[in-house]
Amino acid sequence: MTRLVIVGGALAGHRAAVHARRIDPELDITVLGAEDELPYQRPPLSKGFLTGDVPENRVRLRGAGEGYRLLTPAPAVGLDLTRSEVVLEGAKEPFDLLVVATGAHPRILGKFPPGDQVIYLRTLKDAIRLRDALGHNRHLTIIGGGFVGAEVAMSARHRGVDVVLVEQSQHLLSRAVGSRVSRIVETHLQDNGVTLALGREVTQEFAGTQRLISDGVTTWSTDLIVIGVGVVPSTEWLDGALPTRDDGGIAVTEFGLVAGFEQIAAVGDVASWYHPLYGRPLRFEHFEVATNQAQHAVETLLGRGNTPYQELPFGWSDQGGLLIQFLGVPQSDLIEEEESAEDGRLFLYRRNERTEGAILLNATDELTAVRERLISTLMS
Ligand SMILES: Cc1cc2nc3c(=O)[nH]c(=O)nc-3n(C[C@H](O)[C@H](O)[C@H](O)COP(=O)(O)OP(=O)(O)OC[C@H]3O[C@@H](n4cnc5c(N)ncnc54)[C@H](O)[C@@H]3O)c2cc1C
Repeated sequence: MTRLVIVGGALAGHRAAVHARRIDPELDITVLGAEDELPYQRPPLSKGFLTGDVPENRVRLRGAGEGYRLLTPAPAVGLDLTRSEVVLEGAKEPFDLLVVATGAHPRILGKFPPGDQVIYLRTLKDAIRLRDALGHNRHLTIIGGGFVGAEVAMSARHRGVDVVLVEQSQHLLSRAVGSRVSRIVETHLQDNGVTLALGREVTQEFAGTQRLISDGVTTWSTDLIVIGVGVVPSTEWLDGALPTRDDGGIAVTEFGLVAGFEQIAAVGDVASWYHPLYGRPLRFEHFEVATNQAQHAVETLLGRGNTPYQELPFGWSDQGGLLIQFLGVPQSDLIEEEESAEDGRLFLYRRNERTEGAILLNATDELTAVRERLISTLMS
């Protein structure tokens, strides 16, 4: 019987297992997860789970742990390519086919090691700690003005907590969106009582009965610190066994296979997929991309499809009353233009004459039409 091993027991790993089972009822499927949890989804962890609107049982993925053998906690510590085995502490897991779905983990700031009052939000356990801490702390400082930082800021305000958000760039979401969209998000947060400290970098922390953090000019007093300064693809355990690209992700072809390997795929946040519509490799940290890649890669591995992956990337961020949806690759270094929209607001991102991405703000009715338009532009 063919043995499919999937390393990573969260969204992409679970979706790969479920899809593989659907294709082949006979397949021997094992999922190895580092977290001692049934597979769950992360998007609610910075939003409804923190406000209390989404209970823990609604965070689990449907069918989690069903139809495959799930081993947790079972962190892979190595990959033996000669023997086709995943190496675990004190055990080995042989495979015929392998899917790497180990995602990403938070970048840690040396001055702020994770601790009781310093939280890097990635896992359900982190979110439980933060949700509980928001119940008995008055002042929160968030370091990092990306999507997760902005979402946590809004959730904390919803809980009545004072929030200062410190970001070293002059704008929030500075890599992902242009300055006009940034300003709309900044105004939204400020209107909801978030204090923004933009163009500021926290350099010192003074712990004590009262925790103070400082950028050398201003000092903020805080009870709790949340840090969201980006993530790093989780490839350390591979110790160089598989090729990686400049973005830190595992090098993957447009079919989902790791470059140079017919039996190994990589999917989700850990993967840098070559994208034919863009003519370059891209690594995403989006829920829908992880799901689609998992399904596509499994079809390739099981010989059920031999088409390149051409899905238009899609992600979203819900910031308490402001829904941001991204299509394609709307980067801040592209030309940003607003177009009229039936509902909400629509921004297009152009490189030379080619539209590469779009951002929709509270414009849910427009999504399908903009998606089709972008695909036809990118394919022409
Ligand atoms: C707080 C938060 C909010 C988010 N909100 C949104 C949103 O609103 N919209 C959106 O589109 N996206 C959102 N995302 C991003 C989205 O959740 C990710 O793109 C998605 O989780 C990627 O799934 P993945 O399975 O590739 O990686 P991960 O979710 O990172 O899962 C990888 C799993 O592999 C495990 N693992 C790592 N190393 C090993 C090892 N050596 N052995 C075994 N297991 C290992 C990890 O412990 C983890 O469980 C959010 C992310 C976070 C953290």
